[in-house]
Amino acid sequence: MSELNLILLGPPGAGKGTQAERLREDFTLPHISTGDMLRAEVTQGSDLGREAKRYMDAGDLVPDEVIISMIIKRVEGPDAAEGFLLDGFPRNEQQADALAEALTGLGRRLSAALLIEVGDDELVRRLAGRRVCVKNPSHIYHVEFDPPKHEDVCDQDGSRLIQRDDDKEETIRRRLQVYHSQTEPLIDYYDRAGQLRRFDGTRDPDEVHARIRATVAALRLEEKL
Ligand code: ADP
Ligand code: ADP
Repeated sequence: MSELNLILLGPPGAGKGTQAERLREDFTLPHISTGDMLRAEVTQGSDLGREAKRYMDAGDLVPDEVIISMIIKRVEGPDAAEGFLLDGFPRNEQQADALAEALTGLGRRLSAALLIEVGDDELVRRLAGRRVCVKNPSHIYHVEFDPPKHEDVCDQDGSRLIQRDDDKEETIRRRLQVYHSQTEPLIDYYDRAGQLRRFDGTRDPDEVHARIRATVAALRLEEKL
């Protein structure tokens, strides 16, 4: 097996999207972000989007039955046949089990869970100052840590930058609580499976990227052996 089946794990604001955008190019993997997929459904006004929005606005997890089928379909689809970079999924043990089961069914397995670690105070600063491109949500900025050249304008395509509805202080706190209670147990889950790789997310984005890239390059070599 030479495909790379990767999960990016870590609290909201750790830099998963920022790193995914870079790794996607390094290793030509599809970046599957559940948050971006859900926000696209909300924008389209689909039934799924309307259902999901209530939970997202509150900072809670969208119910498993909605999310699991949406993601498994992508993982089983043609663009993920050579591997994938999952960002924002799984977020609890049921989702992790569902992913493992789907991969086993395809005769595949997870290559690694890449954990980006950052403490809560720093996460609040990052989320509160995050701005994203209205046209392409993979273009991510920060008013202080990674400002665009022109205020509120995307460097890459000139579109407007916006603040996400759930990047407001009170929702941020709730999302961090949800992370600690529901998602953090997955660190142990993947550690026990021998699949966890840890990265210090407080370093600057280029350094975090260099470290993750080196680990993934080594994994790919192992997969080819
Ligand atoms: P996640 O996808 O984990 O929620 P993002 O990649 O969207 O996180 O990053 C959250 C915010 O923090 C963004 O505003 C981004 O510009 C900023 N950011 C990402 N990585 C770093 C870093 N290593 N140092 C400082 N700020 C960062
Ligand atoms: P961040 O990494 O900044 O927390 P995401 O974009 O991954 O943000 O997620 C935003 C919101 O979308 C979450 O707060 C949650 O409501 C919903 N969501 C995303 N992924 C999942 C998932 N795997 N399971 C349940 N809800 C999810």
